[in-house]
Amino acid sequence: MSARRASDYVLMSNRNFFLDSQKQLREIADILKIEPEILQELEEPHRVIKFQIPVQMDNGKVKIFFGFRCQHNNALGPYKGGIRFHPEVSEDEIKALSMLMTWKCSLVDLPFGGGKGGVIVNPRKLSRGELKRLSRGYVQGIFPLIGPENDVPAPDVNTNAQIMAWMTEEYSKLKGKDTPAAFTGKPPELWGLKGREEATGYGGVIILKKLQQIFGFKPKETTLAVQGFGNVGFNFTRFAAHDGYKIIATSEREGGIYVEKGLNPEQTLRCLAEKGRIAGCYCIGSVCDLSYGKQITNEELLEMEVDVLVPAAVENVITKENAPKIKAKYVIEMANSPVTATAEAILEKRGVKAVPDILANSGGVIASYFEWLQSKQKILWEKEKVLKELSATLEKSFKKVWGLSEKEKIGLRKAAYVLAIDRVAKAMRS
Ligand code: GLU
Repeated sequence: MSARRASDYVLMSNRNFFLDSQKQLREIADILKIEPEILQELEEPHRVIKFQIPVQMDNGKVKIFFGFRCQHNNALGPYKGGIRFHPEVSEDEIKALSMLMTWKCSLVDLPFGGGKGGVIVNPRKLSRGELKRLSRGYVQGIFPLIGPENDVPAPDVNTNAQIMAWMTEEYSKLKGKDTPAAFTGKPPELWGLKGREEATGYGGVIILKKLQQIFGFKPKETTLAVQGFGNVGFNFTRFAAHDGYKIIATSEREGGIYVEKGLNPEQTLRCLAEKGRIAGCYCIGSVCDLSYGKQITNEELLEMEVDVLVPAAVENVITKENAPKIKAKYVIEMANSPVTATAEAILEKRGVKAVPDILANSGGVIASYFEWLQSKQKILWEKEKVLKELSATLEKSFKKVWGLSEKEKIGLRKAAYVLAIDRVAKAMRS
């Protein structure tokens, strides 16, 4: 079977992705008896803009890129959410993801609303200089709409601390004063937060350990398959392996690997950096050997015989087509919206416990909140404090979601959505 490419992940049109998000909202609004005027406001974002970003390329010619920023709701505080650089970015995708951010920030009790941004681009095809000019151009396009008290962007798919540093610098320049709280996910030496980079993956492992406590499985006997080996996937595997879990498969856009004895995340990352792809990076302990593993597709990874499946790449990879074939007992949703609504109903019926993305991957935005506070107050937090506070916030949120799910005999996603949407609606009412 040939390896799947990035575009193959997009199994569902982005239009349906947004319509699905609206449908989920309406279902919960029905349960919570939310007034029509509040529902109407929540169904669509407050504002969505599409703008041109002219970038001077290395060959001297100007190329136009398209950027988006969507501000869904700010009842709880400034709009908050990442900016992704990806060839498949579209207005509907960004709208759906901005709504998810509203629920995520609400669920974990942050004083933020929801937003999201993106640029249609394959950043791997740009030089460092082009990437820098694109990042600065993005800020020029939305400058009047963002800021520490209005809308605070952060990294997302294919964006990182360096890009946030360029964006913060551009924002401060246009503002005429140093404004580090305008962005989060910056490098630690530029008012970034120690631990922000690994926060999402770290948070996911806290959720894994909560499941472990409840269901009593033993790390050494528990196998995991992690789809995606970017910042989130890599850090998840790193912390999980450190806690003794056996990661038997992982993947990137081009395909994945299966290592029966359990792979070594750090070695695999080094091998990936050297070779540019994960196939053949079969690393156990400190040794990488071709005879240790075998190449698999992203599709095969999802359907593997494992205890825990961790989709940590992009949205809508578990659909009604492959949901009946998922063999894992637990799914930890580390990507944004990796499971479609129909797929989720199938998983639930089959007794698979899926921890929803707005809880499982909220470690990133929780750490962003700490960074925002730190940048505003000009007080530096130690990493121990960051990880301790992050664990406390996640454990509290998990307890709320689990408690409601048990009490009302509803799935974890429904419980999380009820809690999240109720808090937003209450804020809107008052
Ligand atoms: N992009 C991350 C997310 O989807 C982080 C957002 C943030 O820190 O604002 O949750």
